[in-house]
Amino acid sequence: EPILEGRELLQLYAARTGPTQALRGVDVRVTGGRVSAITGPSGSGKSTLLAVLALRERPAGGELRHRGRLVSSLSRRELQRLRRNEIGWVAQRPSHSLFPQLDARGQITQMARLRGARVDADAALAEVELTSRATARPDALSGGEQQRLAVAAAGVGAPALLIADEPTAELDDTSAALVLRMLRARAAEGSAVVMATHDARAMDAADTVLRMRHGVLSGEHESGQTHTANLDGLGRL
Ligand code: ADP
Ligand code: ADP
Repeated sequence: EPILEGRELLQLYAARTGPTQALRGVDVRVTGGRVSAITGPSGSGKSTLLAVLALRERPAGGELRHRGRLVSSLSRRELQRLRRNEIGWVAQRPSHSLFPQLDARGQITQMARLRGARVDADAALAEVELTSRATARPDALSGGEQQRLAVAAAGVGAPALLIADEPTAELDDTSAALVLRMLRARAAEGSAVVMATHDARAMDAADTVLRMRHGVLSGEHESGQTHTANLDGLGRL
């Protein structure tokens, strides 16, 4: 049974020139135990889709189900609970998903506390070779160290969904390999891992590669038809 299932998802943003259709009818199914990569040109809607799947943005149209329940029918409280306990999120800028005032060990223990998960913080830091940086705050870490820490923290307790936007961009091979090994380890523990990426190293590490183009997703779940969003009546701008 999929954790998330989206049908005909639409997303619109206001732009100076009129509404931008960032998602134009996306069908997607997300299941545990797999790593999926979403690739596609810049501006094709990858980040938007990740934000919708992470329940951080409400789609303008279509149907999104979480474990069979319509997300639009969930209470605000239930959505908050899902975001906190079931969804790990790694922003495109890893520092945006870290607590600025906590050191590396604190990132892990705080996430474990929020999720009610038990975790060995030292083992989690060792997994990403950050043992020697345990007492460093994010602003003292390099980009690669921040990214490794952000993925380690988001993956605490192997959340049902682990979503990462370009998790290996600009990383050297060592950091990229650590990040990808960690994502694969969470999938082996049951997480559904979804990442947006342009990186061949990341696509190689994925079980499935889906392509995004002009707000339409294709690949494994290719529906064969082109969806055209009907802008009339959506009226959320
Ligand atoms: P990608 O991640 O593939 O680069 P995005 O999802 O960031 O693509 O963007 C898809 C489209 O939506 C682009 O045209 C982008 O300019 C637009 N867009 C994304 N986020 C916003 C926003 N917050 N406000 C307005 N337009 C946005
Ligand atoms: P805010 O940005 O004001 O905190 P929320 O993100 O809590 O707003 O959501 C505002 C409303 O939209 C709530 O009623 C919530 O149930 C709904 N909502 C939020 N995210 C989604 C989503 N991904 N799909 C459907 N409805 C959502």
